[in-house]
Amino acid sequence: MPLVPLYGHEAVQARLAALADQGTLPASILLQGPPGIGKQRLALWLGHRLLCEAPNGPCGRCTQCRLTSELQHPDLRWFFPRERIAGDVDGDEVDEAYRTEIQERVAAHGLYPRPEGSTGIYRYVATLITRLAALSPSLARRKVFIFGDAERMVPQEANPETANAILKLLEEPPADTTFILTSSEPGSLLPTIRSRVVSFRIPALPESTVRRFIDDALVKPLLPSGSTTDLVRMAGGAPGALIGAVDRSVAVDRARQLLTAAETGREAMLRAAISSSSSKARGSFSDVLDALTVLLHERARDAAQRGDEPTARRAARAIPEVEQAKRLAEGNVNPQLITARLAFALAGHAV
Ligand SMILES: [Zn+2]
Repeated sequence: MPLVPLYGHEAVQARLAALADQGTLPASILLQGPPGIGKQRLALWLGHRLLCEAPNGPCGRCTQCRLTSELQHPDLRWFFPRERIAGDVDGDEVDEAYRTEIQERVAAHGLYPRPEGSTGIYRYVATLITRLAALSPSLARRKVFIFGDAERMVPQEANPETANAILKLLEEPPADTTFILTSSEPGSLLPTIRSRVVSFRIPALPESTVRRFIDDALVKPLLPSGSTTDLVRMAGGAPGALIGAVDRSVAVDRARQLLTAAETGREAMLRAAISSSSSKARGSFSDVLDALTVLLHERARDAAQRGDEPTARRAARAIPEVEQAKRLAEGNVNPQLITARLAFALAGHAV
Protein backbone atom coordinates (compact mmCIF):
# COMPACT_ATOMS: atom_id res chain seq x y z
CA MET A 1 0.00 0.00 0.00
CA PRO A 2 2.44 2.65 -1.14
CA LEU A 3 2.16 6.30 -0.26
CA VAL A 4 1.67 8.63 -3.18
CA PRO A 5 5.21 9.87 -3.90
CA LEU A 6 6.32 13.41 -3.26
CA TYR A 7 5.57 15.47 -6.36
CA GLY A 8 7.72 18.48 -7.15
CA HIS A 9 9.73 20.58 -4.68
CA GLU A 10 12.94 19.36 -6.31
CA ALA A 11 14.92 22.49 -5.41
CA VAL A 12 14.09 22.40 -1.71
CA GLN A 13 14.60 18.61 -1.66
CA ALA A 14 18.09 19.09 -3.04
CA ARG A 15 18.81 21.80 -0.52
CA LEU A 16 17.57 19.77 2.45
CA ALA A 17 19.44 16.70 1.23
CA ALA A 18 22.68 18.66 0.91
CA LEU A 19 22.31 20.01 4.45
CA ALA A 20 21.54 16.54 5.79
CA ASP A 21 24.60 15.09 4.02
CA GLN A 22 26.88 17.80 5.40
CA GLY A 23 25.45 17.25 8.85
CA THR A 24 24.35 20.87 8.93
CA LEU A 25 20.59 20.40 8.79
CA PRO A 26 19.21 22.46 11.69
CA ALA A 27 17.67 20.32 14.43
CA SER A 28 14.38 22.22 14.26
CA ILE A 29 13.03 23.34 10.92
CA LEU A 30 9.79 24.82 9.64
CA LEU A 31 8.42 24.13 6.17
CA GLN A 32 6.06 26.99 5.39
CA GLY A 33 3.88 27.56 2.36
CA PRO A 34 0.30 27.43 1.09
CA PRO A 35 -2.00 24.57 2.16
CA GLY A 36 -2.25 21.59 -0.17
CA ILE A 37 1.20 21.74 -1.76
CA GLY A 38 2.59 18.68 0.05
CA LYS A 39 4.55 20.14 2.96
CA GLN A 40 3.83 17.17 5.23
CA ARG A 41 4.65 14.78 2.40
CA LEU A 42 7.94 16.65 2.01
CA ALA A 43 8.52 16.37 5.78
CA LEU A 44 7.89 12.61 5.59
CA TRP A 45 10.32 12.35 2.69
CA LEU A 46 12.97 14.18 4.70
CA GLY A 47 12.34 12.00 7.75
CA HIS A 48 12.59 8.97 5.51
CA ARG A 49 15.89 10.20 4.12
CA LEU A 50 17.31 10.92 7.57
CA LEU A 51 16.54 7.39 8.75
CA CYS A 52 17.64 5.49 5.62
CA GLU A 53 20.91 3.57 5.96
CA ALA A 54 22.06 4.16 2.39
CA PRO A 55 23.77 7.30 1.12
CA ASN A 56 21.57 9.51 -1.08
CA GLY A 57 18.45 7.77 0.17
CA PRO A 58 15.74 6.99 0.72
CA CYS A 59 16.86 3.75 -0.93
CA GLY A 60 13.53 1.99 -0.46
CA ARG A 61 15.26 -1.31 0.36
CA CYS A 62 16.79 -1.11 3.84
CA THR A 63 14.93 -2.03 7.02
CA GLN A 64 14.48 1.64 7.91
CA CYS A 65 12.96 2.35 4.52
CA ARG A 66 10.62 -0.62 4.69
CA LEU A 67 9.23 0.59 8.00
CA THR A 68 9.08 4.26 7.05
CA SER A 69 7.31 3.57 3.78
CA GLU A 70 4.44 2.08 5.80
CA LEU A 71 4.77 4.84 8.42
CA GLN A 72 5.43 2.22 11.06
CA HIS A 73 8.94 3.23 12.00
CA PRO A 74 9.19 3.82 15.76
CA ASP A 75 11.71 6.63 15.20
CA LEU A 76 9.59 8.57 12.73
CA ARG A 77 6.67 10.13 14.54
CA TRP A 78 4.01 12.23 12.87
CA PHE A 79 1.58 14.45 14.75
CA PHE A 80 -1.13 16.64 13.27
CA PRO A 81 -4.42 18.22 14.26
CA ARG A 82 -7.08 15.65 15.08
CA GLU A 83 -10.28 15.52 17.08
CA ARG A 84 -9.68 15.86 20.78
CA ILE A 85 -9.51 12.59 22.68
CA ALA A 86 -12.05 12.90 25.45
CA GLY A 87 -11.31 12.24 29.09
CA ASP A 88 -8.08 11.76 30.99
CA VAL A 89 -5.84 10.02 28.49
CA ASP A 90 -2.36 8.68 29.12
CA GLY A 91 0.53 8.72 26.67
CA ASP A 92 -0.09 5.19 25.42
CA GLU A 93 -3.67 6.00 24.49
CA VAL A 94 -2.58 9.10 22.63
CA ASP A 95 0.13 7.09 20.89
CA GLU A 96 -2.42 4.46 19.91
CA ALA A 97 -4.91 7.04 18.62
CA TYR A 98 -2.28 8.61 16.36
CA ARG A 99 -0.99 5.24 15.14
CA THR A 100 -4.53 4.26 14.19
CA GLU A 101 -5.15 7.50 12.34
CA ILE A 102 -1.79 7.29 10.57
CA GLN A 103 -2.61 3.77 9.39
CA GLU A 104 -5.89 5.09 8.02
CA ARG A 105 -3.90 7.68 6.10
CA VAL A 106 -1.53 5.00 4.83
CA ALA A 107 -4.53 2.98 3.64
CA ALA A 108 -5.53 6.06 1.63
CA HIS A 109 -1.97 6.27 0.22
CA GLY A 110 -1.13 9.24 2.40
CA LEU A 111 -3.93 11.37 1.00
CA TYR A 112 -6.26 13.07 3.42
CA PRO A 113 -8.46 16.17 3.49
CA ARG A 114 -7.42 19.26 5.36
CA PRO A 115 -8.27 18.79 9.05
CA GLU A 116 -11.38 20.63 10.13
CA GLY A 117 -11.30 23.73 12.28
CA SER A 118 -12.36 21.82 15.38
CA THR A 119 -9.18 19.71 15.38
CA GLY A 120 -5.97 20.52 17.19
CA ILE A 121 -2.66 19.27 18.55
CA TYR A 122 -3.55 19.07 22.20
CA ARG A 123 -1.53 19.16 25.39
CA TYR A 124 -1.45 15.40 25.78
CA VAL A 125 0.56 15.26 22.54
CA ALA A 126 3.23 17.49 24.04
CA THR A 127 3.35 15.28 27.11
CA LEU A 128 3.81 12.21 24.92
CA ILE A 129 6.49 13.87 22.80
CA THR A 130 8.42 14.95 25.87
CA ARG A 131 8.53 11.29 26.88
CA LEU A 132 9.41 9.97 23.42
CA ALA A 133 12.09 12.59 22.80
CA ALA A 134 13.95 11.55 25.96
CA LEU A 135 14.38 7.99 24.64
CA SER A 136 17.21 6.84 22.36
CA PRO A 137 16.28 5.94 18.79
CA SER A 138 14.87 2.41 18.68
CA LEU A 139 16.16 1.23 15.31
CA ALA A 140 17.64 4.08 13.34
CA ARG A 141 20.44 6.54 14.02
CA ARG A 142 18.03 9.39 14.62
CA LYS A 143 14.53 10.22 15.72
CA VAL A 144 12.35 12.47 13.63
CA PHE A 145 9.24 14.25 14.87
CA ILE A 146 6.91 15.86 12.36
CA PHE A 147 4.24 18.36 13.38
CA GLY A 148 1.79 19.11 10.60
CA ASP A 149 -0.18 22.37 10.80
CA ALA A 150 1.97 23.30 13.76
CA GLU A 151 0.11 26.56 14.31
CA ARG A 152 -2.74 24.48 15.74
CA MET A 153 -0.70 23.52 18.76
CA VAL A 154 -2.18 26.18 21.00
CA PRO A 155 -5.35 28.10 20.24
CA GLN A 156 -7.78 25.38 21.23
CA GLU A 157 -6.58 25.45 24.78
CA ALA A 158 -6.70 28.18 27.33
CA ASN A 159 -3.25 27.43 28.70
CA PRO A 160 0.08 27.62 26.89
CA GLU A 161 1.50 24.38 28.28
CA THR A 162 1.47 22.56 24.96
CA ALA A 163 3.52 25.24 23.34
CA ASN A 164 5.87 25.52 26.31
CA ALA A 165 6.64 21.81 26.41
CA ILE A 166 7.38 21.81 22.69
CA LEU A 167 9.35 25.01 23.11
CA LYS A 168 11.75 23.42 25.58
CA LEU A 169 12.37 20.59 23.13
CA LEU A 170 12.90 22.90 20.17
CA GLU A 171 15.27 25.00 22.24
CA GLU A 172 17.42 22.13 23.42
CA PRO A 173 16.73 19.27 21.06
CA PRO A 174 17.97 15.92 22.32
CA ALA A 175 20.95 14.57 20.38
CA ASP A 176 20.07 12.75 17.17
CA THR A 177 16.63 14.29 17.06
CA THR A 178 15.13 16.37 14.26
CA PHE A 179 11.92 18.34 14.54
CA ILE A 180 10.11 19.20 11.31
CA LEU A 181 7.20 21.61 11.63
CA THR A 182 4.93 22.53 8.75
CA SER A 183 2.55 25.45 8.58
CA SER A 184 0.46 27.31 6.06
CA GLU A 185 -0.13 30.03 8.64
CA PRO A 186 3.31 30.67 10.09
CA GLY A 187 2.09 34.04 11.36
CA SER A 188 -0.13 32.14 13.81
CA LEU A 189 2.79 30.25 15.33
CA LEU A 190 3.96 31.57 18.66
CA PRO A 191 6.85 33.98 18.08
CA THR A 192 8.83 31.95 20.59
CA ILE A 193 8.45 28.90 18.34
CA ARG A 194 9.13 30.81 15.15
CA SER A 195 12.37 32.14 16.56
CA ARG A 196 13.60 28.62 17.37
CA VAL A 197 13.09 27.03 13.98
CA VAL A 198 14.87 27.59 10.69
CA SER A 199 12.24 28.32 8.03
CA PHE A 200 12.19 26.97 4.51
CA ARG A 201 9.72 28.58 2.16
CA ILE A 202 7.89 25.96 0.08
CA PRO A 203 6.36 27.32 -3.13
CA ALA A 204 3.12 26.32 -4.87
CA LEU A 205 3.60 23.64 -7.53
CA PRO A 206 3.95 24.44 -11.22
CA GLU A 207 1.11 23.39 -13.50
CA SER A 208 3.03 20.48 -15.05
CA THR A 209 3.61 18.96 -11.61
CA VAL A 210 -0.01 19.48 -10.56
CA ARG A 211 -1.03 17.69 -13.75
CA ARG A 212 1.20 14.69 -12.96
CA PHE A 213 -0.20 14.51 -9.41
CA ILE A 214 -3.80 14.66 -10.64
CA ASP A 215 -3.13 11.94 -13.21
CA ASP A 216 -1.65 9.61 -10.57
CA ALA A 217 -3.87 6.52 -10.48
CA LEU A 218 -3.86 6.54 -6.67
CA VAL A 219 -4.93 10.18 -6.51
CA LYS A 220 -7.65 10.26 -9.16
CA PRO A 221 -10.39 8.41 -7.22
CA LEU A 222 -10.17 10.94 -4.37
CA LEU A 223 -10.65 14.02 -6.54
CA PRO A 224 -13.85 15.75 -7.58
CA SER A 225 -15.06 14.75 -11.02
CA GLY A 226 -13.91 16.88 -13.91
CA SER A 227 -11.32 16.97 -16.63
CA THR A 228 -7.66 17.13 -15.70
CA THR A 229 -7.55 20.65 -17.14
CA ASP A 230 -10.44 21.78 -14.92
CA LEU A 231 -8.86 20.17 -11.87
CA VAL A 232 -5.47 21.73 -12.59
CA ARG A 233 -7.20 25.10 -12.77
CA MET A 234 -9.10 24.48 -9.52
CA ALA A 235 -5.94 23.36 -7.74
CA GLY A 236 -4.13 26.64 -8.27
CA GLY A 237 -0.73 25.05 -7.60
CA ALA A 238 -1.98 23.27 -4.45
CA PRO A 239 -3.53 19.98 -5.57
CA GLY A 240 -3.78 18.60 -2.04
CA ALA A 241 -6.58 21.07 -1.51
CA LEU A 242 -8.64 19.06 -4.02
CA ILE A 243 -8.68 16.02 -1.73
CA GLY A 244 -12.13 16.00 -0.22
CA ALA A 245 -13.07 19.02 -2.29
CA VAL A 246 -16.10 17.33 -3.77
CA ASP A 247 -18.16 20.14 -2.24
CA ARG A 248 -16.21 22.64 -4.25
CA SER A 249 -16.96 20.86 -7.51
CA VAL A 250 -20.64 21.00 -6.56
CA ALA A 251 -20.15 24.75 -6.13
CA VAL A 252 -18.68 25.03 -9.64
CA ASP A 253 -21.66 23.10 -11.07
CA ARG A 254 -24.06 25.44 -9.30
CA ALA A 255 -22.22 28.49 -10.54
CA ARG A 256 -22.43 27.14 -14.11
CA GLN A 257 -26.16 26.50 -13.70
CA LEU A 258 -26.72 30.01 -12.46
CA LEU A 259 -24.79 31.52 -15.36
CA THR A 260 -26.64 29.40 -17.90
CA ALA A 261 -29.96 30.31 -16.32
CA ALA A 262 -29.14 34.02 -16.47
CA GLU A 263 -27.86 33.61 -20.02
CA THR A 264 -30.87 31.83 -21.41
CA GLY A 265 -33.40 33.63 -19.24
CA ARG A 266 -35.10 30.31 -18.53
CA GLU A 267 -37.30 30.81 -15.54
CA ALA A 268 -37.39 27.19 -14.42
CA MET A 269 -33.60 26.99 -14.30
CA LEU A 270 -33.42 30.28 -12.51
CA ARG A 271 -35.87 29.11 -9.87
CA ALA A 272 -33.84 25.93 -9.42
CA ALA A 273 -30.64 27.92 -9.01
CA ILE A 274 -32.27 30.19 -6.47
CA SER A 275 -33.82 27.39 -4.43
CA SER A 276 -30.55 25.43 -4.35
CA SER A 277 -28.84 28.31 -2.57
CA SER A 278 -30.40 27.40 0.75
CA SER A 279 -29.57 29.57 3.70
CA LYS A 280 -28.31 26.56 5.66
CA ALA A 281 -25.28 26.13 3.44
CA ARG A 282 -23.78 29.56 3.89
CA GLY A 283 -20.24 28.25 3.50
CA SER A 284 -21.01 26.49 0.26
CA PHE A 285 -22.91 29.55 -1.00
CA SER A 286 -19.76 31.62 -0.78
CA ASP A 287 -18.00 28.77 -2.67
CA VAL A 288 -20.58 29.18 -5.44
CA LEU A 289 -19.86 32.90 -5.62
CA ASP A 290 -16.10 32.25 -5.70
CA ALA A 291 -16.61 29.73 -8.50
CA LEU A 292 -18.69 32.29 -10.36
CA THR A 293 -15.89 34.84 -10.22
CA VAL A 294 -13.47 32.26 -11.62
CA LEU A 295 -15.90 31.29 -14.41
CA LEU A 296 -16.44 34.92 -15.41
CA HIS A 297 -12.71 35.65 -15.46
CA GLU A 298 -12.17 32.58 -17.64
CA ARG A 299 -14.97 33.60 -19.95
CA ALA A 300 -13.59 37.12 -20.31
CA ARG A 301 -10.10 35.81 -20.99
CA ASP A 302 -11.21 33.13 -23.48
CA ALA A 303 -13.39 35.65 -25.35
CA ALA A 304 -10.57 38.19 -25.47
CA GLN A 305 -8.21 35.52 -26.79
CA ARG A 306 -10.48 34.69 -29.69
CA GLY A 307 -11.06 38.40 -30.38
CA ASP A 308 -14.69 38.45 -29.19
CA GLU A 309 -14.54 41.85 -27.49
CA PRO A 310 -18.29 42.27 -26.70
CA THR A 311 -18.45 38.95 -24.81
CA ALA A 312 -15.21 39.71 -22.99
CA ARG A 313 -16.57 43.11 -21.92
CA ARG A 314 -19.90 41.69 -20.77
CA ALA A 315 -18.21 39.00 -18.67
CA ALA A 316 -15.85 41.57 -17.18
CA ARG A 317 -18.76 43.87 -16.31
CA ALA A 318 -20.55 41.01 -14.52
CA ILE A 319 -17.65 40.43 -12.13
CA PRO A 320 -18.41 43.46 -9.89
CA GLU A 321 -21.99 42.15 -9.54
CA VAL A 322 -20.62 38.93 -8.06
CA GLU A 323 -18.32 40.90 -5.77
CA GLN A 324 -21.34 42.88 -4.60
CA ALA A 325 -23.16 39.59 -3.92
CA LYS A 326 -20.19 38.42 -1.83
CA ARG A 327 -20.38 41.55 0.30
CA LEU A 328 -24.11 41.00 0.81
CA ALA A 329 -23.48 37.37 1.77
CA GLU A 330 -20.98 38.45 4.39
CA GLY A 331 -23.57 40.89 5.68
CA ASN A 332 -25.95 38.08 6.63
CA VAL A 333 -28.42 38.67 3.78
CA ASN A 334 -30.46 35.60 2.77
CA PRO A 335 -28.59 33.67 0.01
CA GLN A 336 -31.79 33.09 -2.01
CA LEU A 337 -32.42 36.82 -2.16
CA ILE A 338 -28.83 37.46 -3.16
CA THR A 339 -29.00 34.76 -5.84
CA ALA A 340 -32.21 36.20 -7.28
CA ARG A 341 -30.75 39.70 -7.34
CA LEU A 342 -27.52 38.43 -8.86
CA ALA A 343 -29.31 36.35 -11.51
CA PHE A 344 -31.23 39.42 -12.70
CA ALA A 345 -28.08 41.51 -12.68
CA LEU A 346 -26.25 38.87 -14.73
CA ALA A 347 -29.20 38.57 -17.13
CA GLY A 348 -29.14 42.35 -17.48
CA HIS A 349 -25.58 42.09 -18.59
CA ALA A 350 -26.63 39.20 -20.86
CA VAL A 351 -23.48 37.32 -19.93
ZN1 LIG B 1 16.87 2.94 2.89
